[in-house]
Amino acid sequence: MGVFEAIGTESHEEVLFGVDHESGLRTIIAIHDTSLGPALGGTRFYPYADEEAALRDALRLSKGMTLKSAAAGLDLGGGKAVIIGDPTTLRTEDLIRAYGRVVDSLGGRYVTAADVGTTTDDMVLIAEETPWVSGLPFAQGGSGDPSPATARGVMAAIRATGERLWGSTDLAGRRVAVQGIGKVGMDLVRRLTEAGAETVVTDTNTESVAFAVETYGSEAVALDEVYDVECDIFSPCALGATINEETIPRLRCAAIAGCANNQLAVDSDIGLIVDRGILYAPDFVVNAGGVINIAAETGGYSAERAGEMVDRIHDNLVAVFESADSDGVNTHDAAVRFAQQRIDQAGESRFKQRSSEK
Ligand code: NAD
Repeated sequence: MGVFEAIGTESHEEVLFGVDHESGLRTIIAIHDTSLGPALGGTRFYPYADEEAALRDALRLSKGMTLKSAAAGLDLGGGKAVIIGDPTTLRTEDLIRAYGRVVDSLGGRYVTAADVGTTTDDMVLIAEETPWVSGLPFAQGGSGDPSPATARGVMAAIRATGERLWGSTDLAGRRVAVQGIGKVGMDLVRRLTEAGAETVVTDTNTESVAFAVETYGSEAVALDEVYDVECDIFSPCALGATINEETIPRLRCAAIAGCANNQLAVDSDIGLIVDRGILYAPDFVVNAGGVINIAAETGGYSAERAGEMVDRIHDNLVAVFESADSDGVNTHDAAVRFAQQRIDQAGESRFKQRSSEK
């Protein structure tokens, strides 16, 4: 792959390749856009098949973070880091510290957080090397694990979706199929149950499924059957790309609203969803609770204030639905426009400020 070509097509500002031979660190930090503020995004530690796959993931995920923070109304840009390798065998204190020094070298243009393969403990180590880290434990003044906030945000989004579909945010008696009941999905099932909804669950982890059945009275289905479940809301909460040309024709839901990143295999799949008469709540609007919770660290973290900020996902999604109507576009495109407008406005005001300083 032509590296500069790959970076250029998605308009990234900067991509840093970091290496520490002693610890075996190979990392790529992609800064997509800093018009609204420093690029915030987690560090994914993953055994990528090759360097190209790692670079593509960093580029794709950092762009997603730009849209997510912009649509959430945060003054943050989008970035993402990947560490290449299997965290179960490669992770050492030396490697995580070396990574922290690479983050530090960017001087605050990129602020890291935990993601797939990295933990709050890793962030604590990184904090010894750089101040540009978020999601530290409560005891250290941080906001802790973002997953409960993400689940809270998905609930706010499901209520906004219900309001749009049925004119009510009341979820009592509604049926929600949750694909993947990990850190976010399980907490979502708990919240849905408390709201009086019925849940149908699936997960590769059979213990999690058994727990949800016992604790929340969920109905369990096999991994591939979840697409055929008759339900009000289909909630993808596992991996990305599960909404695709093979699965969309099978869905028997009124709407899709879940926490997984990059739910659509390709953006054009939104057309198939619209054709089926299914309402799509764009993933990066729905799943912003985690990054909102991290943004709430600014000025001193308060769980109550963070929760109120996360609940605004309801209003953000209503605004996206309304602009889809008024602009005559699908909800995915409306959400991208909604985010892009904020980024463009920030870019313009910076330009004006610089011009007036000359
Ligand atoms: P997690 O790893 O805790 O949970 C994912 C769950 O999906 C696991 O229980 C796993 O066993 C299950 N799973 C894997 N493959 C599956 C399959 N084929 N079918 C059904 N289940 C499967 O991760 P998480 O933190 O709960 O995040 C879930 C998704 O939400 C990810 O896509 C993540 O990127 C996204 N997300 C998470 C957060 C957050 O705050 N944690 C924020 C934004 C977005």
